[in-house]
Amino acid sequence: MSWISEDDIKAIRQQADIVDVMSRYITLEKKGKDYKAICPFHDDHDPSLSISTDKQIFKCFVCGTGGYVFTFVQKIENISFLEAVCKVAELIHYPLHMDTSQFQPKVDENQPLYDCIQSYIRFLTYELQSENGESVKRYLSQRKINEDIIKRFEIGYAPESSRSVKYLKAKGFNEQILTDTGLIRTHDLDTYAVFDNRLMIPIHDENGNPVGFTARRLNEDKDVAKYINTSETKIYHKGHLIFNYHRAKEFAKKNKRCILVEGAMDVIAFEKADIHESIACLGTACTKEQITLLKRLNVPLVVCYDGDRAGKAATYKFGKLAVDYGLNFSIVKNTTGKDPDEIFNELGKDELYLSVHKTVSFVEFLFDYLPNQYDLDNYEDKKKFTSEMQSFIERTCTDFEKADYYSRIRDLTGFDLSHQSANISAPKKESRNNAAVVRNIEPLKNGRTLAEHGVLWMILNSKLAADQFKDQIGFFQDPVCEELSLYCYDMYRNMDHIDFDVLMSYIEKEDVRNLLVSLMENPFHVDGYNEDFFNDSLMKIKECTLQAQIDNLNDQIKNVQDPMLKISLASKKQELIIQRNEILHRKEG
Ligand code: ZN
Repeated sequence: MSWISEDDIKAIRQQADIVDVMSRYITLEKKGKDYKAICPFHDDHDPSLSISTDKQIFKCFVCGTGGYVFTFVQKIENISFLEAVCKVAELIHYPLHMDTSQFQPKVDENQPLYDCIQSYIRFLTYELQSENGESVKRYLSQRKINEDIIKRFEIGYAPESSRSVKYLKAKGFNEQILTDTGLIRTHDLDTYAVFDNRLMIPIHDENGNPVGFTARRLNEDKDVAKYINTSETKIYHKGHLIFNYHRAKEFAKKNKRCILVEGAMDVIAFEKADIHESIACLGTACTKEQITLLKRLNVPLVVCYDGDRAGKAATYKFGKLAVDYGLNFSIVKNTTGKDPDEIFNELGKDELYLSVHKTVSFVEFLFDYLPNQYDLDNYEDKKKFTSEMQSFIERTCTDFEKADYYSRIRDLTGFDLSHQSANISAPKKESRNNAAVVRNIEPLKNGRTLAEHGVLWMILNSKLAADQFKDQIGFFQDPVCEELSLYCYDMYRNMDHIDFDVLMSYIEKEDVRNLLVSLMENPFHVDGYNEDFFNDSLMKIKECTLQAQIDNLNDQIKNVQDPMLKISLASKKQELIIQRNEILHRKEG
């Protein structure tokens, strides 16, 4: 398989411990000799993902995602299979000899857009260093943003529109690409650059591809927005993007925390203090997609929003969503009313350093925030306040915290919740998950699909079964089974058994891979080839096929008018019924 040999893939798979690799990304919980975890691939609240140490596979029983260690790394890092193999090799220090001559990097259809934005970034950084950029450089130095940060964040200056347009056209980017990137707009045949006389900070997606900009105005003209960002494009989805994520993720893992701030300038404030693990959701309220990215970091999050009213409201909104999604986070107790940049500039690096250590839990934050949102002299408000507090306390606190918090609520409102605590369970958010469980298991209830899975399991275990199935039936009705069987036939052409490692590495489609993992979990409790089981499953498929034909004939008989045709169809049906009954009798005997 191209530039990494099958032997290497196999050796890496055998030497890498799936538990060790997966625990670098998500928290695993030991259950007997196996492990469980919250699934990072769907909106999971209960640990739905199980990891088998014997088989070295993982499987989510809700969304169905499963596979070997490579599949996990491929999915969680959003990289190609071979890149995942390299990554795992690196983690276990396996010396990988690659035939790079055959290396064909995965072509990303958006690459021309990334290239265009990257080229524009080069132009903007050049402009900043030119005479045009002098006043901007002065501004940056006033804000104590040094050369090193300017370089790392590729901060630039967008000159007057016509210069940008001239540059981009001279570089040969066509109109389509220029509009698709959101860099240029056309109005009444007039083409102009979206960013004009602004300080430019590039924004990247989670994989480090440049996708857009956040841009600050340079004059004090209050009629012009202080910050503008790239508008929605094919590659810029503001609800999916987190500023500085691609750079911060390594530091977050190393320092076992990540700091969430409001804007790009706050991230840069932390950079000034040599703290590299801060990120920003770019002024938008945090979305589900962004929470998923944050969860993927698998480190506690420190929320450091501005200390003003808007900052507190944003913290409250974020916290509610984060609790729903089970994110581990704490909140900086910001008593200064200043944002991180002001703290750094006015109070100094040490103060910013200290501030991220002074954190409180979300419930502590609520004790401070919510009494100002409700009128605690009003009975209805008191009730609402109490029940809101109770809901968060029950979901996030330990028993000894609860006792303390409930006594504080009693002091504030007079409501005594202490004796109820044990009876109230956290609000269940699992209904969606349960629906997913049903959806995932449903197909197995279909007799034919179940039988096809059985036959396929035998084919995976024996070339003889593969040959017999080909002779007697030939194809699977279920398209996923059919596709997996084609991989098997392919492999049997050169080998007399199926190598699961190699097979798994060949399969690109997720549903086919998930089916293979389900079968490897051996739901039939049949190890290896078993003739009786194989024959029973074959018979079941034949019976289902005959039954379907009989049903079909019944429909035809009902609808035809010609009596002769009716008779001929009926006799055909009779034949099929005899065949089906033979199968049923054989099964009983
Ligand atoms: Zn899942």
